[in-house]
Amino acid sequence: MRVLVIEDDARLREQLVSSLEQGGYAVDAAQDGETGHFLGETETVDAIILDLGLPQLDGLSLLRKLRASGSRTPVLILTARDAWHEKVEGIDAGADDYLAKPFNMEELLARLRALIRRATGHASAVLEHAGVTLDTRTARVSINGNPVKLTAHEYRVLLYLMHHAGVVVSRSELVEHIYAQDFDRDSNTIEVFVRRLRSKLGQDVIHTERGLGYRLGPACG
Ligand code: CA
Repeated sequence: MRVLVIEDDARLREQLVSSLEQGGYAVDAAQDGETGHFLGETETVDAIILDLGLPQLDGLSLLRKLRASGSRTPVLILTARDAWHEKVEGIDAGADDYLAKPFNMEELLARLRALIRRATGHASAVLEHAGVTLDTRTARVSINGNPVKLTAHEYRVLLYLMHHAGVVVSRSELVEHIYAQDFDRDSNTIEVFVRRLRSKLGQDVIHTERGLGYRLGPACG
């Protein structure tokens, strides 16, 4: 899963990026509204964390522009403390959730998990499919109850497939969702991650749909 952080406060932005990366996300970051809007329009991300007070283009205008152009990406806004009108305006402009500054990073991560969960149609923080259990809160994975150790990229591939279980996911889609923009992307590495996941989880968990991509779940017709 990939997240875009738009925050002009350098210290907070760096804290967000590092906490999100530790939480297993690929992270893109922008320090002003124009750059954030450009990335939001051109990059495929699973959620956006948006500060409202931004140089060049303020967060509310950015959000309205994104929604006007049809983006349905979940957006969590960061508002000033006690500024209830910002929350109201933000939600009306298309935000899915908000947090008032200063906030606790654990709370931000929990709200982000909930946004991504809702957007992909899941109700629980623990994803289960074909004997694989993935706890999005702790990034722990097990197969038939036995813990499995995954690398950061293996985890991202599995997390994306688990969120889209039963659906065929192409290699290019996986590339879009597991790497940040400035990362040297190579869709051949996806094959390597899938091969390693199969050797750790069992050969029948991830199916190859020839010419189309991968699908988590039992083989169909
Ligand atoms: Ca700001």
